[in-house]
Amino acid sequence: MSKRFDVIGLSTALLTCTTILLAQQPVVRTADPITRGLQLTDFPRTIKVADNVYTYEDFHAGPEKFTTTNMFVVTDAGVLVADGQGSVPETKGLVEAIRKVTPKPITTVVIASDHGDHTAGNASFPAGVHYLIHPTSKAILERSAKAFALRGSGGGRGSGGGRGNADAWDLPADAELVADKKTMHMGAEEIQILFLGRAHTGGDLAVYLPRQKILFLSEIYLNRVFPAMRSAYPSEWLKALDRAEAMKPDLYIAGHGFTETGAVSQEEIRAYHKAMEAVIAEATRLYKSGVPVDVAIKEANWGEYASWTLASSQGPIAIRKIYEELSGQLK
Ligand SMILES: [Zn+2]
Repeated sequence: MSKRFDVIGLSTALLTCTTILLAQQPVVRTADPITRGLQLTDFPRTIKVADNVYTYEDFHAGPEKFTTTNMFVVTDAGVLVADGQGSVPETKGLVEAIRKVTPKPITTVVIASDHGDHTAGNASFPAGVHYLIHPTSKAILERSAKAFALRGSGGGRGSGGGRGNADAWDLPADAELVADKKTMHMGAEEIQILFLGRAHTGGDLAVYLPRQKILFLSEIYLNRVFPAMRSAYPSEWLKALDRAEAMKPDLYIAGHGFTETGAVSQEEIRAYHKAMEAVIAEATRLYKSGVPVDVAIKEANWGEYASWTLASSQGPIAIRKIYEELSGQLK
């Protein structure tokens, strides 16, 4: 199968100096910016996905380049942001990108993933913004804040590989808890905050925009990134994906990996779902054959998914987590 390298899915139509529109051209299906035909200097970038909905993509820390992707929604009553970046300067970049799009203030931040690569920059959001978070994620953030305080200083906080500049951000005490579903209105816009089940962190939230039929899935959906399971609930994650796909949105937005056009995103969430199933099936095969976990890590055959971003670092972690679940140790 030849993969087309041409034009990368970006139109040259510039809305502002930094906002781009996705065109309908074929794109290389990968999380790797260079393979996709982009330059590292193309990031961070803002993408307009609907009249008042945008994504913001900046690079995750670490040697392998792939994006951490946020969504923001501009309404008459202010801006809602779903997830931040992994450090104070990076989330400052997000805040500044929003300012280039609209003079409306950021009023609301949904913590869809509690991991550090999505929260460690939250001190850059304006003081007084209203946070929404799942109770499990709130407990996780409070635990990690406590551990951070005990350690004193240095080192990154958060469990998802933030860049280490925690800058003393603590979840405000008045953060609103969403355990299951909350429908909110900002101006004329209806916004649904949804818990689709435990997936990548256990407190995973999704943000659904019913008017535009856009579903931001944060780390429930990693676009062409190997299933990252360090804090995951593998079989429940599959069910969360089932629930997401049953909603049949026009556009799925991943927490890592590129923003796609609607039709491509529908194919890619299927591809991600299949990757999850394949990884779980391979680990389960090894487990049922009685292969010890350390040997399984070496013997696992990931097939086509071995080429996905983070496969070499996340493969062993997935084996351990799936073994944990199969042996009944995962609560
Ligand atoms: Zn992440």
